[in-house]
Amino acid sequence: MGGTYRNVFASLLPTHQARDRGSSPAPLILAAHYDTVEGSPGADDNASAVAVLLETARRLRGVDRMREIHCIGFCLEEEGFLGSLAYAAELKATKRNIAGALVLECVGYASSEDGSQTVPPGTPIAVPTIGNFLAVVGNAASAALTASVEQAAKPHVPIVPLVVPGNGELLPDTRRSDHAAFWHYGFPAVMLTDTANFRNPNYHRSTDTIETLNLRFLEQVTDAVTASAAITLRDKAINKEH
Ligand SMILES: [Zn+2]
Repeated sequence: MGGTYRNVFASLLPTHQARDRGSSPAPLILAAHYDTVEGSPGADDNASAVAVLLETARRLRGVDRMREIHCIGFCLEEEGFLGSLAYAAELKATKRNIAGALVLECVGYASSEDGSQTVPPGTPIAVPTIGNFLAVVGNAASAALTASVEQAAKPHVPIVPLVVPGNGELLPDTRRSDHAAFWHYGFPAVMLTDTANFRNPNYHRSTDTIETLNLRFLEQVTDAVTASAAITLRDKAINKEH
């Protein structure tokens, strides 16, 4: 595209207690994209996710960590996941492993009205018609990560989990964010989403503003993501599988 674009990376090191055990397990990735489409302020897509990422990182400073946490703001998601594809390609090329990636998509829009939720054609599960849940989408290789995120998150916000066969080729709408870059290179990753245009009428429009977001929902999502990251930090089994 004729320019240089940058992912933004920050690392939370393992706590001393965990590091002293002498092992260095693969890092957990927490990610959100920081770009938006032209003409949209991008409150839900994707400032909501950046806010959750920052607050989750702040909270995790106080959690015992057996593994490193890599917090990443990806660029160019809206241009075909160019930032995350570059990142995942480099992971692969340098033979580095990860415990998993929790990829935050739009996470700030919710509604309590019946009929506020629609679904992509071909969705293989029953989905509530009230759009007040957080969807957790994994591919076949991320089934264990999807299940542990569901377990950790559901005390905090209603969860609808979905594990798609393969890399979601039959359900292209499940492949529309940075998690697909990790799937492509064989790394476990889940997308956490309010389902974007299947719920939010302001998607990619000038009306995607903070006034339209549900800040209580955003807070619940932050609790859910913090709990999900915390359990992944403790769970050695997740790392063993990969
Ligand atoms: Zn978008």
